[in-house]
Amino acid sequence: MVAGESVRQVLRIRNVSSKAYVLRIDCAGMQFEPGQHITLGVHGEPDVREYSIYSPPGAPFLEVLITETDPGLVSRKLRRLSPGDRVLVNGPYGYFTLPANKHCRVLAVATGTGIAPFHSMSSAYPELDMLVLHGVREASEAYDRQDYRQYVSCTSRSDDGDFRGRVTDYLQGYDVAADTYLYLCGNCEMIYAVYDLSQEKGITPERIKTEVYF
Ligand SMILES: Cc1cc2nc3c(=O)[nH]c(=O)nc-3n(C[C@H](O)[C@H](O)[C@H](O)COP(=O)(O)OP(=O)(O)OC[C@H]3O[C@@H](n4cnc5c(N)ncnc54)[C@H](O)[C@@H]3O)c2cc1C
Repeated sequence: MVAGESVRQVLRIRNVSSKAYVLRIDCAGMQFEPGQHITLGVHGEPDVREYSIYSPPGAPFLEVLITETDPGLVSRKLRRLSPGDRVLVNGPYGYFTLPANKHCRVLAVATGTGIAPFHSMSSAYPELDMLVLHGVREASEAYDRQDYRQYVSCTSRSDDGDFRGRVTDYLQGYDVAADTYLYLCGNCEMIYAVYDLSQEKGITPERIKTEVYF
């Protein structure tokens, strides 16, 4: 094992849609900031992947929200684990964290499991003025939406969400205050598109943070 690496036990796997699940592992002693990620793999196997932390600091466990990709090596293997199985964890890593002053306005835009860091942030700071805009295919992918103070699902393939269309369509008609901090997480097409749009809306690059999953 290298420094920072630890072997942890799986505590629970909770399915949140047909493809996505929340993996809970024991995390005694791990310190992190909401928005950071870990690397995770099945203990004894060489492949690891990055996963944003879903749970807040101070919880008696650590959770990640994972979608099983097809084809997908690690995301599929992790889903087939059982309580008591061991995983290899490294981290935390990353700078996708909130400003020091939490009395700010945050617009959090995510696609799919890119919502994970915002779950950690809103669980850690329930009073945070954060609107979560979540791009998904259909409403069944609005994972744990009750956990957010302000949440809008943008469904691209069905009418059962809060808004029919992509997050960029929603943002076209949305006034973004210039003092907003913009956090973008998920696939790179969305991130590039929202970044460009935010420039037209006058948000300066210093107020924008991005986390690209793929
Ligand atoms: C900083 C960071 C944080 C991340 N956090 C998360 C997270 O919280 N939850 C999560 O599910 N993934 C997250 N990812 C993606 C994750 O690391 C893996 O790439 C993903 O689980 C696929 O790995 P795999 O071994 O199953 O698939 P591989 O065998 O590596 O195949 C990868 C395929 O899956 C696609 N893919 C990768 N990620 C996704 C995704 N999220 N949704 C749909 N398709 C995808 C790729 O384009 C590629 O086609 C994160 C990536 C980064 C860089």
